[in-house]
Amino acid sequence: MNNVSYLTAYLEHSKGEHKQGRPPVSGHNIIVGDQMDKAIKSVYETVKARDPNQPEFHQAVEEVLDSLGPVISENPEYIDVVQGMVEPERVIQFRVPWYDDEGNLHVNRGIRVQFNSAIGPYKGGLRFHPSVNQSILKFLGFEQIFKNSLTGLPMGGGKGGSDFNPKGKSDSEVKRFCQSFMSELWRHIGADLDVPAGDIGVGGREIGYLFGMYRKMANEFTGVLTGKGLSYGGSLVRPEATGYGLVYFAREMLATKGKSFDGATVAISGSGNVAQFACEKVLDLGGKPVTMSDSSGYIYDASGIDREKLAWLQDLKNSRRGRIKEYAENFDGVEYTESKPEPNHNELWSTKVDVALPCATQNEINGAEAQMLVESGVTAVAEGANMPCTPEAVEVFLENGVLFAPGKASNAGGVATSGLEMSQNSLRMSWTREEVDQKLEGIMVNIHKNAFETAEKYGMPGNYVAGANIAGFLKIAESTMAQGIL
Ligand code: NDP
Repeated sequence: MNNVSYLTAYLEHSKGEHKQGRPPVSGHNIIVGDQMDKAIKSVYETVKARDPNQPEFHQAVEEVLDSLGPVISENPEYIDVVQGMVEPERVIQFRVPWYDDEGNLHVNRGIRVQFNSAIGPYKGGLRFHPSVNQSILKFLGFEQIFKNSLTGLPMGGGKGGSDFNPKGKSDSEVKRFCQSFMSELWRHIGADLDVPAGDIGVGGREIGYLFGMYRKMANEFTGVLTGKGLSYGGSLVRPEATGYGLVYFAREMLATKGKSFDGATVAISGSGNVAQFACEKVLDLGGKPVTMSDSSGYIYDASGIDREKLAWLQDLKNSRRGRIKEYAENFDGVEYTESKPEPNHNELWSTKVDVALPCATQNEINGAEAQMLVESGVTAVAEGANMPCTPEAVEVFLENGVLFAPGKASNAGGVATSGLEMSQNSLRMSWTREEVDQKLEGIMVNIHKNAFETAEKYGMPGNYVAGANIAGFLKIAESTMAQGIL
């Protein structure tokens, strides 16, 4: 029997049971449970068979499907939603030709994955990095569906980007690339259709160039991108939002154990947008950040990265576009360690800390590195990046009672504030810094509460992975069924 006919048979069976409104009896439950597991597994097998070369996407799907058993058990008809959800509504791929300063032609690839619009326009960042491919963008787009749902705002899931590497390029090269990229993307996006934002390699500068080109091509000024500059429709606190939101979420997690950031030592990886503002908020709450990194290596500053040093680092990274190594050369008593040859890895996670905030990229903490954190007594790990912990690492944290927050919950502050930017653009007004920060904090507290309570309700107390996946999924499933469209 192929996957579809298996599922059809399964659904016939489960819908029949449902209509009769019979309470599950134990023997029956076991049969349904077994069939349900098979149905979920068959969805995963189909995903793998269809795109065998997309490991990051498989990883993201598997993690979500692993959590959904109890929900499908309660609502067998939701298996249809699951089956539809793992296939993007649309993937657009296009050529991006541009000339460098010497007049040489380069041809990059642009992609936009419009994954799911059940609860609102597609929404998700653009990533410019040489590693970008469909697998990475589909994993990010898939995660984005749940994240956006968790914010409580009406935003669907999408993600896009290019294998262009902005590192080492001049301003005018970056501008020419962005203009070429948008000269195609503009026809596929819109304020009520798809609203991209920044991600790795796409910051304020790139959003400005992209927005300018959109405005020219579409001949309209609308809130089609978020993360815009304040002078042309951006929101206060958007740059800070992901990092701040992450720390608000981690604060709520720590509070469930009667702990706080006050006096806590904190390991942060990355030194980009998310890492910088996570560091700032940790300082606001009385914590002591001791590490930061880039793809070349990491610094350990035992005396703590204070506000003055953070400001220096922000200038290094955002204006001078330098390397983290220079931090160790500039300040006394700082150790610098180069990355291991294995991509994304270094000994940063052997540092003894109370809280770990991975804010660089996917799969940067593996099982062995998670074990090192456990052995040094870490209390909480909250993902600032998307999927920085491998499935093995997550298992190690959960088995050892470490508070663990998946990125789709803990880093949702960025997209939540993008949602607030969209609202301000639609209203043609702007809120004060305090107003936006208060709304952001409220959203993060709610996401924490929702994930925490959902995990408890489904019999997995303290498991934020399951809580976030289930809570995010339920809203999509209800909307999809109500609209009668998969
Ligand atoms: P930035 O480009 O501003 O910073 C990325 C940081 O991670 C840099 O320090 C970079 O070092 C490092 N990094 C990137 N790739 C690698 C790698 N392969 N190995 C080791 N280090 C690496 O990006 P953001 O801070 O915006 O994003 C960081 C993470 O947070 C990403 O996973 C992103 O998807 C996620 N995120 C971002 C949001 C946002 O609002 N910006 C929202 C939600 C999630 P180097 O400079 O050497 O490349």
